[in-house]
Amino acid sequence: MRIQLNYDLSAQNTFRMKVSCACYVEYETVKELEGLNFDRLPKPLLHIGEGSNLLFTQDFPGTVLHSNIEFIKYVDMGFEDVPVMVGAGVVWDHFVAETCRHGLWGAENLSLIPGEVGAAAVQNIGAYGVEMKDLVSGVVCFDLQERRKVKFSREECRYGYRDSIFKQPENKGRYVVTSVLLRMSRKYSPRLDYKGVREALGIPGQAGKDGSTVPNPVMADPIGPLTPQQVREAIIRIRRAKLPDPEEIGSAGSFFKNPVVSREDFARISPDGSAPHYDLPDGTVKVPAAWMIDQCGLKGATEGGAAVYDKQPLVLVNASGTATPQEVLALEQRIINGVQARFGVTLHPEVDHI
Ligand SMILES: Cc1cc2nc3c(=O)[nH]c(=O)nc-3n(C[C@H](O)[C@H](O)[C@H](O)COP(=O)(O)OP(=O)(O)OC[C@H]3O[C@@H](n4cnc5c(N)ncnc54)[C@H](O)[C@@H]3O)c2cc1C
Repeated sequence: MRIQLNYDLSAQNTFRMKVSCACYVEYETVKELEGLNFDRLPKPLLHIGEGSNLLFTQDFPGTVLHSNIEFIKYVDMGFEDVPVMVGAGVVWDHFVAETCRHGLWGAENLSLIPGEVGAAAVQNIGAYGVEMKDLVSGVVCFDLQERRKVKFSREECRYGYRDSIFKQPENKGRYVVTSVLLRMSRKYSPRLDYKGVREALGIPGQAGKDGSTVPNPVMADPIGPLTPQQVREAIIRIRRAKLPDPEEIGSAGSFFKNPVVSREDFARISPDGSAPHYDLPDGTVKVPAAWMIDQCGLKGATEGGAAVYDKQPLVLVNASGTATPQEVLALEQRIINGVQARFGVTLHPEVDHI
């Protein structure tokens, strides 16, 4: 266990904001976590993973906790389903790489998403038609309020779009995820619903209603049966082409949520209906925030060292490497104001502001 006072968090957030916390605690085991004298730690408490979905807006006055619980345990190498217990501190993409190497299906579309397994279960990470909830069987936590171990079944996690029971305001900061039970599969089950994924794999397919591609039946795949590793490599190629590598340029991924508007509002936003959009089952319409930001001429816009990423305007980056939280916040506000003035729609950040 490591406990440090006045700790510099620059390396603990992928935005590379130069901020500090009053106290930093890194633990190796559940026992160490349970044995902490919480009453003596500076408050509030904040548990982080790799800090890839966080924007620290100032120095943090309390204690930042971080898990080094790292294990991957194959509970059963069953015929079809393969349950795997994974420590919360495992880097998510290391887990994906390992299961793909073993030929297990399930996580390949979520390749290269930054962060750790614990946070992935909190955030319900998602990409290319797959979400963490599709894999989770259960989540084991330490309840900081009751100071005891608690387990959540997948249903009890109440997963929604980038949402879970752990993110609800009444639970925020209450549960520390210590391990996650995931259900992987040996059964041939590539998820190729997204046009870009099929293209990257060289598989033709017809366009779906929302512009995505209707998957061909597996046997019709002209390049024959795929492996999870092949799908992973395709996903990595797609992501590398449009998203900044956190090792090279600071960011927290998609900064804003895609707004959902009424049909009438969409007709106002795009009178000829040509704007990219997704019709949702409840009759509302999801409009890509990236398109709105681009239409406002804000692609590449800067505030000091912070910038709108030129290859993907939904991502704000620490372009200079020395951008301050104030510069990122100023850019965020400029985008919100711009989109509001042009489209009458308020963008909301996806990134947690701390
Ligand atoms: C370049 C880039 C691309 C990205 N692409 C995607 C994408 O395609 N899809 C997607 O969904 N996300 C994406 N993200 C966002 C981010 O990777 C995910 O939200 C990820 O799950 C965050 O993991 P983390 O370990 O960094 O968590 P942090 O950012 O440190 O924390 C996120 C939240 O989880 C909580 N938390 C962390 N660990 C624990 C724990 N053990 N117990 C309880 N709570 C905990 C924190 O308190 C916080 O509320 C991207 C980010 C970047 C920088």
